[in-house]
Parts: sequence; structure tokens; C-alpha cells
Amino acid sequence: ADKKVVEWKYTTCGYCSTGCSIEVGLNAEGKGVAGRGVGDAPVNQGKLCIKGIFEYELFNSANRGKVPLMRDKVYRPFLESTWDKSLDFTAQEITRIQEKYGRDSFAIISTGQILTEEFYTLGKLARGVIGTNNYDGNTTLCMSSAVSGYKRSFGSDGPPGCYDDFDHTECLMAFGSNLPEQHPIIYWRLKMALEKRKFPVIVVDPRVTMFAQMADIHLPITPGTDVVLLNAMAHVILKEGLAEQIYIDAHTTGFEEFSKLVEQYDPVTASKICGIDEDTIRHVARVYAKAGAAMSIWTMGINQSTHGSDGVVGINSLNLITGNIGKPGGTSLSITGQCNAMGTREWSSCSGLPGYRALEKEKDREEIAKFWGIDASFFPEKRGMFMTDILPAIETGQIKGLWLIATNPMTSMPNTPRIRKTLEKLEFLVVQDAYSDVETTQYAHVYLPAALWGEKEGVFTNTERRVNLVRKVMEPHGDAKSDMWIFNQLAKRFEQGRKMRFPEKPSEVFDEMRELSKGRMLDYSGMDHDKIEKHRGLQWPCTEGAEAGSPRLYTDGVFQYPDGKAKLIPLPFIDNNERPDDDYPFWMNSGRVVEHFHTRTRTGKIGNMNKFSPTPYMEMNPDAAKKLGIEHMGYARLISRRGDAVVMVQLTQRVPPNMAFIPFHFHECVNRLTLGLLDPHSRQPAFKQCAVKIEPA
Ligand code: SF4
Repeated sequence: ADKKVVEWKYTTCGYCSTGCSIEVGLNAEGKGVAGRGVGDAPVNQGKLCIKGIFEYELFNSANRGKVPLMRDKVYRPFLESTWDKSLDFTAQEITRIQEKYGRDSFAIISTGQILTEEFYTLGKLARGVIGTNNYDGNTTLCMSSAVSGYKRSFGSDGPPGCYDDFDHTECLMAFGSNLPEQHPIIYWRLKMALEKRKFPVIVVDPRVTMFAQMADIHLPITPGTDVVLLNAMAHVILKEGLAEQIYIDAHTTGFEEFSKLVEQYDPVTASKICGIDEDTIRHVARVYAKAGAAMSIWTMGINQSTHGSDGVVGINSLNLITGNIGKPGGTSLSITGQCNAMGTREWSSCSGLPGYRALEKEKDREEIAKFWGIDASFFPEKRGMFMTDILPAIETGQIKGLWLIATNPMTSMPNTPRIRKTLEKLEFLVVQDAYSDVETTQYAHVYLPAALWGEKEGVFTNTERRVNLVRKVMEPHGDAKSDMWIFNQLAKRFEQGRKMRFPEKPSEVFDEMRELSKGRMLDYSGMDHDKIEKHRGLQWPCTEGAEAGSPRLYTDGVFQYPDGKAKLIPLPFIDNNERPDDDYPFWMNSGRVVEHFHTRTRTGKIGNMNKFSPTPYMEMNPDAAKKLGIEHMGYARLISRRGDAVVMVQLTQRVPPNMAFIPFHFHECVNRLTLGLLDPHSRQPAFKQCAVKIEPA
């Protein structure tokens, strides 16, 4: 239908990390009425998935916050307030709590959704003004294991590969990634590459996902045992002389210990643990190692495990021993979840200081303190709590105040019945979000209405390190303000913040980031907003004067450890998770559907998303259902040791008889059941593995 578009405005999609360039069509009244992909964009080449196509509907979606809200007790109703009053009150409460209980008793949990310039500004406020060390992002729920694994293997975070690698690879292995539903446009890029040139696709996933259905080989692995499969593949590769010994000798350390460890994981032994038969293990190891270039991608099936960080290290080691890092088609590539999870890793200071700097390094602390004009002794000398430790610390009374920014732990955290009780214990909770109906506002004292994607300007970094521009398409809804404006205004309410420079324009903040990145691994110095738009995104490192960015890292075989070498790390498998037993005989698995994003704060408000995916459901194997008297389209109750949930049943052979699968987007559902054991390195929860029993509802 003719939507009477009079103008198209360039921006970047604000859902997943694929990083699609998108144009929003505005009518004569300036209202967003259409969306389309940008034809000359290197990432999506004119394509969008259903979420991107209807993203413009967010501008007029229900329950947008229009004005700040305040109350002194959470059992009283919210009253409309002004920005001045609500920010004054927030600053007073932060000061009161810090003076009474110590600086770290006030915690901040942010997101992977806001703009990079906003992340940088928040980092300056959190680290340089408020000075709490208990500041983290919800990326601990999605990408923390990838970050940790990259750091352990290569000495730094930063995905080495890119989408262009699909066009060069001779073998692709995907771990715990349902690409067609999670990242449809990345999947389309893969399909395009496969149409030009056939190469084997191996999908490791306990469930027959859409991706598994198109694979040449599907490995239905026992949940949480990827490390065992990876060790066994390495065992075969070393035993059969298929490793790239010249690359190993020149560019890695730790080979001796690594090879001793994988010696123990022969395919027969490994098969009994990971559930993949020994011949298939040998076959995939040979296919991978013999390919001229092979690449591995992964998503939450690896990250969300008690062995998440080890899984990433195992994937990196597989690629190091086969010489598949830094070459076209040969890489490790984590497929990131949120649109700007990379931006927060790079610039928010959650886990350290901006520009991949570490609190643990004196030089890094001094550089940033000097640049910000503060004393380096103001910074802690090691990072504080992760998000998954901050919430339990509220229970124990260590944390008394909390600021949640564009994140919704009432739905996204494991064991949500416990989270509800946790938030009730806070002396002060401020929720900053584009939507006033987000579940966490029930426990908030202050609600700050934030501008949404497309109502402000800045950049996102996508999965392949491409920095792309989010142009402002519309004015913010009501009296909502950009997150950067809110951070700047709050900074002015603290003495130290008044002394520091908090630029108001995103381009000025970007200039600070460029300056701080010069000569570093994530060099932004060759980029500016206009150049980024012109190229439809540039990949870092992009050095000063360079016309283009860099598609790959480590092309010279020099890594970020002081000796320039990558580490091969032995990974003994420790079976430390909850597993099905006589009382709780099913694995509980969770994942995504193509129509929804995260906790449906946004997609739950868009008609077409709800028409196609209106309700939570459980996938269950027909044989298991028959034994329990559960019928297709009937209802069943799932019970774990944490809580229960009632869902509609879809009978399907996608899941084995001992497994149930539920999409994680619905607040009344899967995270009432999940366990939340944490990875020891990344502190990421094992969302994918817990035990449940099932009965007819
Ligand atoms: Fe947006 Fe991701 Fe869909 Fe692209 S694939 S349109 S970035 S949600």
C-alpha cells in the first residue's frame, strides 16, 4: 500500500548485532510509516528480517514513557515528576547510600542496547564520578563467555573474523547457534555464499533447529558437553598428523600441556560423555582439519553454560591448531546478541576502562585519569562484581541501591522468582527505559523515560567489528530524553562531574573515543560519523587516514599477549551442572524465535510480531508426551527446583525424548525454571541446562 513516504532517513537496526543498515520512511507529518533495507550496505545488501521491517512501528508503540515518575515508597503509586526533581532525587539517593554504606553499595547495570557514545559517557559517569566498582552490563547474560574466551586465548577481546569469511571458507562449524531465527540476515549471507560455492556445514545443537535442518552434518550433542567434543576433535587432529605444526610453533604457547590433555579425550571416551558417536567425531575432525580454510561460529549454546568460557577457548584452540585464525575463511567468530553488545565491551568501562583498557593495569588507569582530568587513585585496581553477582549481593545487603538502564532482569535473569524478592530489598531503585511498563518499574522509586533507537544519534558496533551509524529519525516521545542527556545531567549533580568535561554532542564524544583509541587494537581514529554513513559502516581497526577498515584481526599472527603469541589452554571437563535425574527427568533448553527480541519489551508491542508469535510454548517429543498423557496444543506444567510454568505444547521431533524447549522471550515462562549456575570465568549463567519434570496442566 502507498504509505505516502516523503523522505527516507538512514539509520542502523537496533535489535540484533547483525548490524543491518535500514532506512525509515517518514510521511508528510514526519511520522515513521515504513522501513526498508539499504541496497548498497555491505552487511545486508537491501535485506531486512521481519523485526527490522517493522521497527519503525516502535515510534508509536504502547506504554512509552513520556515523563519521569517518582515515589518515596514502592507500595505507593508513581507521581509524574520533572527531570530536575527526579535527577536531583536520584543524585541525592546515590550520595546518601554511598555515604552511609560505602561507594560500592550503589550498583549500576546497563545494557547492550544504547549507543556507543552513550556507553562511553556512562562509563565516565560510573567510573569517574559516582565511582562505584559494581557496574556491569547485561552482556554478562549473553556475550561474557565470548569476551572471556577471546581474552584467554588471544590476550584481548575482539572477534577476529567477519561475514566475508563465508565467501572464502571451505568448512563452517556452528556451535549452539540457530542462525536462521537468531540472525536471519547473517544466515542469508551464508546461504548466498553456499549458492556460489558448496562447502560442508556442521551444526552442533541438542535440538533439530532450523539451522540443523539445512546442515550437512548435525551433531545432537548432550547439553553442556561442547568442551568434550572439542577436546576429542583436537585429539583426532593431533593423532592423525592433521595439525598445522608450523603455525602452532610460530604463533602459540602451551602446546605441550594442551596435547597432553587432549590425549585423554579419545573419541570412544568422549562419545560416552557428549553423546556424539566416535566415528562422527573422527569424521568432523578430519573434514575441519583438511579444509583449506575452516571457520567456527557460535552463539548462546556455547556462551550460556557453566563451561561457556572454556567452550570459546576450545573453539579458538581448534582454529589455532589448524591454522585458522586471521586468514580469509579461517576464523573464530562469535555471533553477538544485542545490537551494541560490542560497543559496551569496547567503550562502556563495565569490565575495565574505555578502549579495551584494564583497571588492573596502572598505565591504563593513569591514561584515562589524565584524559578525564581526575586522580588515578579514584579508580579501583580490579574490576568489581558482574551483573550476576550484583543481584545476589542485594540479597546479602552488600548492595543497597541500583540503577537499571535498558535492561529487564525480572525476565532475563535465571530463577526469576528469586529476582523479584531481590529487587524488593533495595533501598533505592532507578529504572531508565524507553517503556514505562517494563516489569522492573514495579520495584522502582524513580522511572526515567529514555529515548528509543532512532530518536537519537550515535554508533553501534556489530558482530564483525563494523561501526555503523544510527541517525536520529524522529524526536523522542513525549519528554523522553536520550540516555546521553540523562548521564550528562546526572553528572552535573556531583561535584566531580561538574569539574569534568561531558560533551553534549555525540560527534564530540566520538572525537574523545577516536583520541583514546589511536594506535590501539580497536583503533577508531580513521572514522567519523559522516564517513561511517558514507561507507554504511567501517570495521575497526580503522587507522587515521585509512580509506577503509580492517575485515580481520591477527592476520600477521601477532596476538595481544606480551609475547605476541596465542595460548593453547588445556580444558579438563568438569561435570558440574544440574542434570536430569529420576525426580526431574527432562533437560530444559531455551532459545529464540525469529519474531521476538529479548524480553519482548519492544517486539511485544508490534502487531505483526504478536500475530506470528503470540504466546509462549514448549516443544516436546511426541513419544515422551504420549507416556505422560500430554497432547498437541494442550497445556503442560514444567516444574524445576526453582519454580514452575504452564505452557502450550507443540509436539515435534525437533527435540529428543528427554528434552523440552521453550523460547526465552516471555516473562511468565522459562526463567522461572532456570538454575543460574555461573561460569567461573565469565560469570555467565547456564541458561541452557537445567532439569525439569513435566505434567499435564
Ligand atoms: Fe535487525 Fe538483526 Fe533483523 Fe538485521 S537481522 S534487520 S539487524 S534484527
